[in-house]
Amino acid sequence: MIKTDVLIIGSGIAALSAAAELAKYKTGVTIVTKRMRTDSNSALAQGGISVALAQEDDWRLHYKDTLRAGCYLNNEKAVERLVSLAPSVLIDFMAAGMHFDRNRRGELLFGREAAHSLNRVIHAGGDSTGSKVIEQLLKNTSDSEYITIKENEPALELIVKDGRCFGAVTRDIKGNTNIYAAGSTIIASGGIGQLYPATTNDKSITGDSIALAHRAGAKLKNLEFVQFHPTMLTIDGTAYGLVSEAVRGEGALLVNEDNKRIMLGVHPMAELAPRDVVAREVYAHYLKGEKIYLDISPIKNFEEDFPTVSGICKEHGIDLAKNLIPVAPGAHFHMGGITAASDGRTNIDSLFAIGEAACTGVHGANRLASNSLLEGLVFGRLTADHIIDHPSEIRETEPELSKVKVNAAAFPSKAEIRRKMMEFVGIVRHRSEIQSVIEWFEGFMPPEGCVNADYTALTNEEIEIYNMLTTGLLIARSAAERRESIGAHYIVD
Ligand SMILES: Cc1cc2nc3c(=O)[nH]c(=O)nc-3n(C[C@H](O)[C@H](O)[C@H](O)COP(=O)(O)OP(=O)(O)OC[C@H]3O[C@@H](n4cnc5c(N)ncnc54)[C@H](O)[C@@H]3O)c2cc1C
Repeated sequence: MIKTDVLIIGSGIAALSAAAELAKYKTGVTIVTKRMRTDSNSALAQGGISVALAQEDDWRLHYKDTLRAGCYLNNEKAVERLVSLAPSVLIDFMAAGMHFDRNRRGELLFGREAAHSLNRVIHAGGDSTGSKVIEQLLKNTSDSEYITIKENEPALELIVKDGRCFGAVTRDIKGNTNIYAAGSTIIASGGIGQLYPATTNDKSITGDSIALAHRAGAKLKNLEFVQFHPTMLTIDGTAYGLVSEAVRGEGALLVNEDNKRIMLGVHPMAELAPRDVVAREVYAHYLKGEKIYLDISPIKNFEEDFPTVSGICKEHGIDLAKNLIPVAPGAHFHMGGITAASDGRTNIDSLFAIGEAACTGVHGANRLASNSLLEGLVFGRLTADHIIDHPSEIRETEPELSKVKVNAAAFPSKAEIRRKMMEFVGIVRHRSEIQSVIEWFEGFMPPEGCVNADYTALTNEEIEIYNMLTTGLLIARSAAERRESIGAHYIVD
């Protein structure tokens, strides 16, 4: 049994933001992460972080834009906390060494993204914001004697008894099962992108947060809201990586094979309409077999301004001199998750959830672009502050490990799960058909339902599939419950 004041599951922006704050107050932190420490959606982020720091901006405008994009399904208090604290948290982050892109006069550069009423997105290294932010956070935490990072060590289950969390069970790279006894446990293991065939997400993002939390008795919320990004570089039906929305923010246009703009007349903001609107339009053309492109000719210094996107395009044989990047939508962000307060608290004592794993209600039915790195940074810190103010003692509780057998030999492949997710709970949904996929998922669950299993009998790959099946089932059930089309949940019948 390994003792730690705080156990954090995951190593993205939310995890590292919380860890950095906890370490300031000499709180011992152990981070367990599924792959390497830099493998996360955070490290892949391109566009930037939205924050009302421009002279003409005000957090109240940021607040309004966030609610409008979220279709007013947001938790207003959580949004206010996020956007009003954002300027001071970002200023502190810059004081701690983070460099965002600036002009020659040393002023911050603000980019534009969909559904923002003005330029508000700060970025680093052009479109390499995520990797720069993670690099800086790792630098800020690596010197700390209070933080230990364990790589290639996925969390398998949470240890919960009588409504209190005592830590988690993991499997390390040697295949050993480790039991962590933690005063507080933070789930920061991200979203669900790998449940879909085309996704912008890192390979490790297989919906584990939701599966683990549900099996431990944590409440979940808004799982039906899955945001699809309208523009992934897509060649012959295969998606290769994200083409940031900032590209459209800088003037790129969505056109068909005849070079006609497809967003004109669809929404007053055209290419900069909310993501769900743009994704549905691109998808409708894609389903008809039409090719859709981003016409980047309005952007003067494309390769200089978007080095990451340019790299992805060149790697896959796109000639940028032709100014056309073939695109299609891919699963990108999960607005739903573990029901949590802005300081991470869940319905289980000493269990916290932050970042994309959590549903604090800030994103409502649809996330405003570049609000999620911000959420990880701000709410990661608030969660750490809560833990510092209300420390829980470490209790060495031996978990009663489940003996439930799941029939892994009958599991479908990941590709099959992804196909089902896209068909039944993808960009466009038919309520009348969702029940059939619920039954399909339920067929793979043990008779006891979505419970912890005897993981000793399963490989890491099988555990990942079990998590995907569990999370897929829960998303489908949520989608069946919401009767109206709103935000990212779009039903045609
Ligand atoms: C390509 C791309 C571009 C994006 N661009 C932007 C942008 O410009 N601005 C913006 O605001 N947002 C952007 N987003 C969204 C944003 O990056 C994410 O929402 C955010 O980074 C999530 O942070 P997180 O810390 O919650 O989770 P993540 O960064 O996803 O980290 C989760 C961590 O948990 C680990 N993990 C998973 N399962 C387990 C397990 N069982 N045990 C242990 N560890 C586990 C993962 O390996 C990972 O390290 C983008 C996302 C993608 C994919």
